[in-house]
Amino acid sequence: MKKVKSKVVDVGGVKIGEDNPVVVQSMTNTPTQDVMATLNQVEKLVNRGCELVRVAVPDSEAGEALSEIVDSSPVPIIADIHYSPDLALMALNAGVDKLRLNPGNITDPEAIEDIAREAASRSIPIRVGVNSGSLSKDIVGKYGRSPKAMVISAEEEIELLENQGFDQIVVSLKSSEVNKTIEANEIFSRKYDYPLHLGVTEAGGGRSGLIKSAIGIGTLLREGIGDTIRVSLTGDPEEEVGAAYDILKSLGIRNRGIDFVSCPTCGRTEIDIQGLEQELEQRLADLEDSVRVSLMGCSVNGIGEAGSSNLGLVGTARGGVLYVDGEQKDLISDSDIETVVSRMEKEIRNYEKGE
Ligand code: SF4
Repeated sequence: MKKVKSKVVDVGGVKIGEDNPVVVQSMTNTPTQDVMATLNQVEKLVNRGCELVRVAVPDSEAGEALSEIVDSSPVPIIADIHYSPDLALMALNAGVDKLRLNPGNITDPEAIEDIAREAASRSIPIRVGVNSGSLSKDIVGKYGRSPKAMVISAEEEIELLENQGFDQIVVSLKSSEVNKTIEANEIFSRKYDYPLHLGVTEAGGGRSGLIKSAIGIGTLLREGIGDTIRVSLTGDPEEEVGAAYDILKSLGIRNRGIDFVSCPTCGRTEIDIQGLEQELEQRLADLEDSVRVSLMGCSVNGIGEAGSSNLGLVGTARGGVLYVDGEQKDLISDSDIETVVSRMEKEIRNYEKGE
């Protein structure tokens, strides 16, 4: 997988673009003016491995909360701005590490140039965040909500920023339709080397959201396109971070936490694979290093998978046989799921620590 070349942009010490690792980001869904709740959520996201956090700035109350959030956050904070150039300037004054502007609803060239000058003086990057659902009327009138329209919307704003000598630019081109998202990013990356933030917007929740995001983001990453990702899911943003790493893990781009190998189960299944996986996934969400764990219902493929995993559990009529680095270690004969989960959790944590 050869990466398409992009410039590098520094967001409060986190580098996006060039050969840097694809950065995982998410967005809080707490009211930003509730500083405690927002910081609590930031912390939870960071524990899951989130490297940049965006917060919505819908009004001046949220804008006033920014400096406290920025000061206490362990990771750089991005202000998400729509409609109001004044809120963008307020966020810059509060010390945010990056701005996201929507070119579909901040369209006054002078206002954009003012923001660019202010951001340049503070070395703060700007994401030109195009959304097919909020393109300007002009653009929709001429090009509809097509991938081309999305690229043109980004281009117009880039030109205004570049007019001010500003080049600390990240771009996103998101549609709720996977094919449009892919196409817009492909067109853009053939023409520009600004780093790309990938995501399928309003992808939905649950299975549908995960699949749309995985296909949209995954296809582009596989083509070498994309420097930072946000998986947009309806619901708890912590899930977005887990899903982001799952996409990156699936493509062998970045590793974090457990890489599960588990069988689909069938009539030969001797242990509760589904219960085990669900419980372990939850309990070990904070795991930083990558540990490959195979959970297999019986010995048919179980022993082979255990051989290529760090830890493996293979179902037998007598209970689960534990393997560590392919070596048979123990028989967990207790059929109580809680006992098996606790033992596996302990083994996995010890393995991560190298014990
Ligand atoms: S590993 Fe065993 S239990 Fe799992 S699907 Fe294959 S045959 Fe069935």
